[in-house]
Amino acid sequence: MQTASKVVVVVFDGLRPDMVTPDRMPNLAAFAEDSLWFREARSVFPSMTRVATSSIATGAPPALHGIVGNSFYYPDVTRDFVLDTSRAEDIALAESRLGSPLIAAETLGDRLAVHDKSFAVVHSGSAGSTYAINPRAAANGHWTFSVMGRDATRTPHAVDEVVERFGPLPLRTLPRFEETDYVTRVFTEHVLGEMDPDVALIWFNEPDTSFHYKFLASEDTNAIMLAVDAAFGRILAAIRRRPDADDIAIIAASDHGQISSSGVADIATLLTGAGHKAARGSSRAINGADITVTGGNMGEIRIVDGDMERRDQIARWLMQRDEIGMLFTPSDDPVLGAVDGTFSTTLVGLDHVRQPELVYVLRSATDADEHGLPGLGLITGGVPVGGGMHGGLNRHELNTVLILGGASRGGRPGLSEAPSGIIDIAPTILDLLAIPAPASMRGASLIAAATREHRPRTEIFETGTGAFRQMFSVVRRGQHAFPVHGGRVT
Ligand SMILES: [Zn+2]
Repeated sequence: MQTASKVVVVVFDGLRPDMVTPDRMPNLAAFAEDSLWFREARSVFPSMTRVATSSIATGAPPALHGIVGNSFYYPDVTRDFVLDTSRAEDIALAESRLGSPLIAAETLGDRLAVHDKSFAVVHSGSAGSTYAINPRAAANGHWTFSVMGRDATRTPHAVDEVVERFGPLPLRTLPRFEETDYVTRVFTEHVLGEMDPDVALIWFNEPDTSFHYKFLASEDTNAIMLAVDAAFGRILAAIRRRPDADDIAIIAASDHGQISSSGVADIATLLTGAGHKAARGSSRAINGADITVTGGNMGEIRIVDGDMERRDQIARWLMQRDEIGMLFTPSDDPVLGAVDGTFSTTLVGLDHVRQPELVYVLRSATDADEHGLPGLGLITGGVPVGGGMHGGLNRHELNTVLILGGASRGGRPGLSEAPSGIIDIAPTILDLLAIPAPASMRGASLIAAATREHRPRTEIFETGTGAFRQMFSVVRRGQHAFPVHGGRVT
């Protein structure tokens, strides 16, 4: 049975659920109070934006959608540089070399199109994130607007339409006040006011950007959080003004959390010092390197010539480093990796054919940062020390905002501790519109979950060699294991 006439989805990039409080985000906190809040919702690993966006779109972990990192070495596409999925040209290159879509799994957008449902997206993230939320938007007859301009969307006519009505695209500033205001106007007046699609989604690039560069809970960041919260208030007001407001489902979500950085461990430089010529993913050149290394607070290490002896040697060397929190290698075993002491990539849902030979996560802890927010970890660089980061398996990176309101709350406002996550968003939207989800969607509709009592049982795994020991915990629902927390034990 169709339980909503329309679905409105609001995504706050990087928002931590423990920051949804009446003082930081009054409109969202009040909405949560009156809605069904999945307080234990989880992202996927790596907890990065394009990986998570692909999981939101496909209702599945990276093992299924194949976006195994924000950037990843993909020799089938190019051996010249590490693919950067934020770039439209890299995605286009991948699709032309592969002769197939970069995200092949059926998406929410694809399924909506089959059922003649319209889907409009207003996005303020990178071209790659904008692509990933509805990769076949043009073929699906859908509409995706990007505040980054015509080149950042597969439906550039959406940008033309918006600029014609609302004027030039806003200048990019930090925090992103102007972009937040512009996209909110586009969403409330153009998408909800004129287009009136079956599913409407807005993606705010904040508070993620300010968390990274202005730090979690700083004065600037608190101000932009209030601004995106006010934007959410404007969206709710636009919905409530409608005569059919009661039939509209509203989903508020984030793609991952963030933790503050406490110091730098530059893995590429360390490995070069240990005798392995390393090319950084961000360098856009491999130039005869032995290995490619991506960064953040976790990353992949690829052996360019495929020499697994080197991989094993690097893994064992990293286990002796105090900066390393976790290590994963591909394996036939569901828990233990091919290299003794590592976990299997299968355990974290990363076992796609594109997976790297070795994945590291830098050490993090649940200690409080200078603003009293739990979660502190090392980074390879990229943002100033103290700035926020995500990608790893700290519970404060993995825990996401997931709140079902309006016609989707099932008449039962409250907190749910049911196992849930970003992979459930697409199946939930489809269920609200009475559309069956494709079998590839590992997520489940939370409309049904909301009516059942769950007592999540946490499974804890541990492995290691010598002084290196790592743990990882999951909560299982059927075949899917939601990642809860992982890190170094000693
Ligand atoms: Zn993000």
